[in-house]
Amino acid sequence: MDVPFLDLKAQYKTIKVEIDAAIQEVINRTAFAGGSFVQKFEEEFAAYCQCKYAVGVSSGTCALWLSLLGRNIGKNDEVITVPNTFIATVEAISLCGAKPVLVDIDEATYNLNPALLESAITSKTKAIIPVHLFGQMANMDAIMEIARKNNLLIIEDACQAHGAEYKGKKAGSFGEAGCYSFYPGKNLGAYGEAGAVVTNNEELAIKLRILRDHGQTKKYYHDMIGWNARMDGLQAAVLSVKLKYLDSWNQARKSHAKMYSQLLQNTDSIITPFEADYCEHVYHVYAIRSGERDSLMEHLNQRGISCGIHYPITIPQSAAYKTMITEQNCFPIAESCSRSILSLPMYAELTEQQIEYVTQNIIEYLSTQKTLS
Ligand SMILES: *Cc1c(COP(=O)(O)O)cnc(C)c1O
Repeated sequence: MDVPFLDLKAQYKTIKVEIDAAIQEVINRTAFAGGSFVQKFEEEFAAYCQCKYAVGVSSGTCALWLSLLGRNIGKNDEVITVPNTFIATVEAISLCGAKPVLVDIDEATYNLNPALLESAITSKTKAIIPVHLFGQMANMDAIMEIARKNNLLIIEDACQAHGAEYKGKKAGSFGEAGCYSFYPGKNLGAYGEAGAVVTNNEELAIKLRILRDHGQTKKYYHDMIGWNARMDGLQAAVLSVKLKYLDSWNQARKSHAKMYSQLLQNTDSIITPFEADYCEHVYHVYAIRSGERDSLMEHLNQRGISCGIHYPITIPQSAAYKTMITEQNCFPIAESCSRSILSLPMYAELTEQQIEYVTQNIIEYLSTQKTLS
């Protein structure tokens, strides 16, 4: 049996008629860059995220970068985030000229550990970017409280958290801005590159619309230096179709996760995901931990099961950021997780047989290891 890590074709088959018609309509109306399809999706997505505004942009990376620029974060400023994120979070901070400052994570949730936040705050700190990793939100009560006390902005990296909630409130609706990616493999994925910023701050929403369009308020009259970061019409039309199914897809992911965890519950050397009861975890990634991660992954690969590692190294361990590591600046929890973490196949169309096949092979691997030792 083959179990791919992700199967975007299986999803397309279930919505082909609607998607094909939506794409054809964009072509008929030649609404390719920005335009009415983008505006429609922005309204739908803002409402979905319990926010007043959504600004469609060209990627999640641009959403993060423009949010920081939009609040004038730049040279001599510091922005706090985590070492175990996709590099885009940290790149956005660097590209606007600010300095990324990292704090280690909580070992149970893999999210920012609020207990370590205050010691990372200096007079230069302007913002905190909590990353809602794998589809579970960070501890927002504690983070918001520290941000309020220290007068810091919260910009949420919700690129893996479409539909995730913390105490009934949607990802992206807590802080100044919430940044989303619609990269094809995300829970809500475009058929190309796209992203969005959600916010309740009207002034910021207006500024982001200007920044994403070369800083112009009127064609060829540029009020500030911006960028070409517009969302394209085809992506918006695809996303409008797919948004209607997001909750049911997330529900399927949750039930797959439950099945994985149940089938793996008697394996004492495997750590399954911890789910905080006040969080709606949307399982962008279902990650287990194993002390023998690499050989377990090899075993699964040989049996037709594809896995992922999110992420094999921390940000300061990458060549791009290696100067960040100093003696006071090491991240034992994030580093240890990066050595043991393994993402199993996860998408709404995954079948029970496939999940059973994956867990049987994990259990088989563990029993052969036991016999060897
Ligand atoms: C995917 C992702 C991004 C970047 O999104 P793109 O659309 O690929 O630019 C940023 N942060 C996190 C945590 C992500 O998973």
